[in-house]
Amino acid sequence: MIWIVLYIIIGMLWQASVAVRLRNTELYRLTHRRMFIVAGVAVVGMVLYFFRGMFGSDAVAGIVGFWLVMVVAFCIVWVALIAANVFSAARYGQEWMTFRNRSLGGMVLWPVGILSVEKALRSEIVLRVECLFSSQTRKWPLARKNFSDLRNVRLRSFDHDGYKIYVQCNPARIISTTAKIDKDSIAGRKCFLCPANRPKEQDLIAWRDYDILVNPYPIFDPHLTIPCREHQPQLIKSHLGDMLDLAHELKGWAVFYNGPKCGASAPDHFHFQAVRVANIPLYSDYENLEHEDVKENVVRIKDYSREVLCIEGSRGLVIETMENLYADLHYDQPDDEEPMMNVVCVWTGRKWRLFVIPRLTYRPSQYFEGKYVISPGTIEMCGVMIAPKVEDYGNITLDDILDIYRQVSYVVGV
Ligand SMILES: [Zn+2]
Repeated sequence: MIWIVLYIIIGMLWQASVAVRLRNTELYRLTHRRMFIVAGVAVVGMVLYFFRGMFGSDAVAGIVGFWLVMVVAFCIVWVALIAANVFSAARYGQEWMTFRNRSLGGMVLWPVGILSVEKALRSEIVLRVECLFSSQTRKWPLARKNFSDLRNVRLRSFDHDGYKIYVQCNPARIISTTAKIDKDSIAGRKCFLCPANRPKEQDLIAWRDYDILVNPYPIFDPHLTIPCREHQPQLIKSHLGDMLDLAHELKGWAVFYNGPKCGASAPDHFHFQAVRVANIPLYSDYENLEHEDVKENVVRIKDYSREVLCIEGSRGLVIETMENLYADLHYDQPDDEEPMMNVVCVWTGRKWRLFVIPRLTYRPSQYFEGKYVISPGTIEMCGVMIAPKVEDYGNITLDDILDIYRQVSYVVGV
């Protein structure tokens, strides 16, 4: 009997350690109520079992014993659920809830379940990112404050032609929105993406030549910045393969790129960013709206307020098509080192989707006239206008937004 009790205690401690590491993550939020209920039942069961002599009758001891068996069963289900969630998230990204029950069947053995979670926590980037968020938003005051402010963020929405465009009031983004990106300003400041100049509280996950970091000035929760370790210019061409591979590993996330003159506040240091796919309206707009062919393997979203092209398929096809598209765009904008664009990459579970958003300008006339402090980067082009100033958030109209999109978009082939 003592061995069974020891087994349960060790198992529960191990579970607790997994739970602590997953604290505040999306997976944890979805399972924590169950965890507490089961843990509560388990503790009461154990206490009753140890004090069963006080009840003095075999019948009561029998009931308590039965309860203990139930507790063990509960524990198995609990771990199975966590394991299933973890695995489904790793394998299927945003669709993990759908697959939860399918994975459940394979996870019924208790220690095997925990071991699987442990392995996944060490090897799956998508889970390590969850844990990075969990620890950074606990230990780093700036990240904690800005992510907690994001929970009360104000959001307006406009309906237009069968889809929605949002405006988010986000005062913390003023630094990024008004960032000076001219050569002198860039040369005169310390690069905040270089490892030597990053805040000391900022932890990272190393991935190839990149460091995956929590963005301390988020637009969405969670929000990652993924700079190269080396200081090198923001030019996407040689990083396309990495972008696709990263999107493949970060299932359920959209990896995106702001061109050096299209929203990147560090145009001198190569970086991607990433947010959850569910946060960007563009992704569902693409699924719900009609498309039309632009070039071979390139479609555009039809009657959309801004030009959004999409390349869909295998890794080789997406890279090859993108290189051709890049060359075409560069032909139209030969003076710049890179044609102006925002790029978003998502792994759908079966293939890649690369959204290319060609740009004509970075900031609209309203910015220079002092009417609105809005500088469209990828997130704005994906359908969420970020207004750092409260009055802009209140005043902006749908017509203003459509006008901004018209000014900053570059329509291909016209
Ligand atoms: Zn740098």
